Amino acid sequence: MHLNLANSTNKGYPAAMGKRKILLVEDEKPIREMIFFALDGDEYEIIAAVDGREASEYLNANMPDLILMDWMLPDVSGLELVRRIKRDELLSNIPVIMLTAKTEEHNKIDGLDAGADDYMTKPFSVKELSARIRAVLRRLSSGDNNHLSNGILVLDLDKHTVLIDGDELDVGPTEFKLLEFFMTHPEKVYSRAQLLDFVWGRNKFVEERTVDVHILRLRKLLKPHGCDKMIQTIRGYGYLFLTNKE
Ligand code: CA
Repeated sequence: MHLNLANSTNKGYPAAMGKRKILLVEDEKPIREMIFFALDGDEYEIIAAVDGREASEYLNANMPDLILMDWMLPDVSGLELVRRIKRDELLSNIPVIMLTAKTEEHNKIDGLDAGADDYMTKPFSVKELSARIRAVLRRLSSGDNNHLSNGILVLDLDKHTVLIDGDELDVGPTEFKLLEFFMTHPEKVYSRAQLLDFVWGRNKFVEERTVDVHILRLRKLLKPHGCDKMIQTIRGYGYLFLTNKE
């Protein structure tokens, strides 16, 4: 078989118009082959790198549209590579989807903190991967930074719309503000009083149970897509927004 390798001589091969370049950094050959056979074609050109060195070499001279990054690489961790990419002015806007083994799942937060846009836990289906790639690229092609996103959930701050996997939700202004607050303050517990201060404003006199009413509405909106699980209730205290919703 022929795999496009990052260090092969054909890296200057012109991609067809509109073909997106995906750099796949993965040391496991079966996974490289699976992704290559499933995705390399009219829509995407898959460039494979087997370790951090090959990936870095490729990135020194090329700008892929997206990077699929394995967590455990032989020479450097995928996490460290993502950090480097996100610190690099030229590369920082390239979206990254991390690929991780089940046992490394607890490291998800680190990956997202390092700047990864999404996460896939092995084993995954190429169909699922392909859907995630489309979602990430679609978010990017909307072209500006006035978006907040978390997996398939996207907030458009200009249009005040909420999209889940491309579908627009009918969201009220308070639910929007609440969701915006959560998405910019994930992984931290907020009390009802704090949420009232931050979302409703400090000098509004609103009962704490108002928060629960709007959380309920927000969860209802997010529920059909399973995103309601991102909002966790901390009993007797308040709420927490999770960035990993697997
Ligand atoms: Ca690996």
